[in-house]
Amino acid sequence: MPKNRTIKKQIVILCVLIAIISLVLTGLGLKISFSIPKMLIEESKKELTDTSELYKNILLRQIDGNFQMLDTLGAYIEATEAYKNENLIEYLKESNLRNDFMMIGFIDSDGKGDFVNMEGIILKDSYVGKEPIVSEALSGKKGISEVVKDKWSDKHINIYAIPVYDGTDVVGALTATYNTKDLYSKIDGGVFNGAGRIHIIDTSGNFILRSDDPFIGNNIKNLFDDGVFNENEFLRITKLMSKGEYALTESKYNDTQYSMVFNPLGINNWYLFCVVPQKSLAGSLSKMTQIVRSIFLSVLVSVIFIFMYIIHIIIESNNSMEKLAYYDSLTGAYNWSKFKELADKQRRQSSDYALVLLDISNFRFVNEFFDISKGDDLLCFIKEACERHCEESELFCREAADHFIMMIHSSQKEKIVPRLMSLMNEISVYSQNSMQGYKIQSTCGVKYLENDSETPLNVLVSMAKLAIQKAPKEHKNKVAFYNQKVHESEQLKNKIENTMADALARHEFALRLQPKIDLNTGELHSSEALVRWITSDGTMIYPDQFIPIFEQNGFCVKLDLYMLDKVCCTLREWLDAGYDVKPVSVNQSRSFFYRDRYLAKFNEILEKYNIPHSLIIIEITEGLVVSNIEQLRKSIKKLHASGYLISMDDFGSGYSSLNSLKDFDIDELKLDRIFLTETDNIEKSEKIMKNIIRLASDLNITTVAEGIETEKQAEFVKSINCNLGQGYLYSKPIETEEFKRLFLKKKT
Ligand code: C2E
Ligand code: CA
Ligand code: CA
Repeated sequence: MPKNRTIKKQIVILCVLIAIISLVLTGLGLKISFSIPKMLIEESKKELTDTSELYKNILLRQIDGNFQMLDTLGAYIEATEAYKNENLIEYLKESNLRNDFMMIGFIDSDGKGDFVNMEGIILKDSYVGKEPIVSEALSGKKGISEVVKDKWSDKHINIYAIPVYDGTDVVGALTATYNTKDLYSKIDGGVFNGAGRIHIIDTSGNFILRSDDPFIGNNIKNLFDDGVFNENEFLRITKLMSKGEYALTESKYNDTQYSMVFNPLGINNWYLFCVVPQKSLAGSLSKMTQIVRSIFLSVLVSVIFIFMYIIHIIIESNNSMEKLAYYDSLTGAYNWSKFKELADKQRRQSSDYALVLLDISNFRFVNEFFDISKGDDLLCFIKEACERHCEESELFCREAADHFIMMIHSSQKEKIVPRLMSLMNEISVYSQNSMQGYKIQSTCGVKYLENDSETPLNVLVSMAKLAIQKAPKEHKNKVAFYNQKVHESEQLKNKIENTMADALARHEFALRLQPKIDLNTGELHSSEALVRWITSDGTMIYPDQFIPIFEQNGFCVKLDLYMLDKVCCTLREWLDAGYDVKPVSVNQSRSFFYRDRYLAKFNEILEKYNIPHSLIIIEITEGLVVSNIEQLRKSIKKLHASGYLISMDDFGSGYSSLNSLKDFDIDELKLDRIFLTETDNIEKSEKIMKNIIRLASDLNITTVAEGIETEKQAEFVKSINCNLGQGYLYSKPIETEEFKRLFLKKKT
């Protein structure tokens, strides 16, 4: 089905969309989560640079402060010419108490001079005076030395020296030493939460100050000695350093990836060398990556979930649409169109099938006399029963209200009747149990497919329907086959329909009369007019064969008026001949009650022959009663007003309604022949008859028992106070002349 294909297409499109979106999300997630560390490492390098700048400033500020201290002292010495004074050392001793120098001293231009330490101890002829930095100061250039080991304290120190002038002549150098550790403590530790290290190196890579926790071996004096950098990187860095420029790099050392920065200090040829393992950044990085990844994962899962939900909704709504399109909403069985689709497919593979139409008799009765819900329950039960009875590769559906169609295997024909009978019996038993003992009867019409895969399914169904229609109208479960007889009767039907109009014109329809006898007196009470079709070749066709067809095609209206004409004509003859004429019943088709002009035509005929209306009894069938109560009530009133008598025919053959007795003002009630032919439950049937007759007589309705064939039956109906009897016991329907001869008397 195209709709199905559309749904499939939609689902495929959705799946492709899911796949694409998932791929994009996964790719994006991976890309972002992988680029985060890179980004952060770049970020960390920048931070490393900033950090090195910060420490550089701290370091320079400390060195600057130390020089300022010396500059102030030097300026004082120059101003007061204290260098000439013997007490200079005393002055220096005092001032050293107020600064952080380890020792301070004044070296004269000969390179001689004393020092005083922090404890105020004076050290004569110090070795410091011989240090090159002091010589440089004596030549007029102030400076700070490399790290040297202090001979007195055994600590690492830096020597600060500034020239002292007398006018433009250098008269000496003010010299002080500063604990390297104190200087370095200002910057060591704490870089990148303790993960990073700061060293001071010179342009050749020699360590000038190194962290206690070096990143390369303690014994290594030069950064470039340990193969930290490859050749190219080594050349690049040293080139930059030789020009006093800044350098940023990264390298792997002892399996750890490091970020590094070389920041020139501007003092001597010193460089601040900052180093941090990238892994230490990665801790926070991986957390971040994890967060990003889980965000992407949850977005991905949500997207997939939403899509799945959409697909689920599409499938669900498709299913319910399919249910509407393919299934009967009440019972859940296939509907006709689905059945047709599947059955046609199966027929193409094998024609070893029979098509069965299961028809429930009087289903309308169930709905009208019990409850709609009871009817629904019954249909659901039938669906379940069909399900149980269908074997593999057999199919069934509910075609219309009370029609179920099955396609069952036909290879073993002898099995079909028992199978279908058992199905119908189940339905009967169910109805007896759930509907106050009312026994539902059904008929199965069967048409074998017999290697016929051409005839359309609906034609086969019509054939099965026809088989049911042609089956005897017995009130029991039965199986009716579409066979030669049915085929012929259908042909007859066509023949009848083709010839009926001509037959009427040629007066082929003849009148027969059957007496209704007063059971008390044995005298004629009235008669019933019955039609016979005597064709041109002399064959007599009985009304059962053509009346149902005429009722269906509307021709009955014409025939009934024709028959009424014949009855009235006969009555006029008899009246004129002076016979004691009794009323005649005429059977009238249903149309009688629904056509306004009909009564007028009816009256016209009686007027034509001048027949008193009281001589005509109008027989209506019981089926009519149920369908249109209000209209019927009105019609009966009109007919009564016109002086006709009304008889209800065939009471008990269909769905008998005792209500109709009180609802309609009828004059006569004809109990159907079926009461007397009942063989299943004679007692029950007699009881029902008895009660109907009692009720009718209470309502002043004359009762007629139809189909009396034996004395015994006559005795029985008489014993239950039935008023009239009609049947072969008294007479078959006979020609009017014979009727006159046998039953009419001249008026006295
Ligand atoms: P119905 O009105 O119930 O007529 C009674 C039928 O029972 C008649 O069949 C009659 O021959 C038959 N019958 C009477 N006594 C006995 C009996 O003791 N045993 C048996 N086995 N049958 C008995 P018929 O004449 O074949 O008529 C069949 C039906 O055709 C009638 O049933 C009636 O409904 C219809 N019909 C007959 N003539 C006309 C007509 O002119 N117009 C209309 N609309 N329907 C007609
Ligand atoms: Ca009748
Ligand atoms: Ca009848």
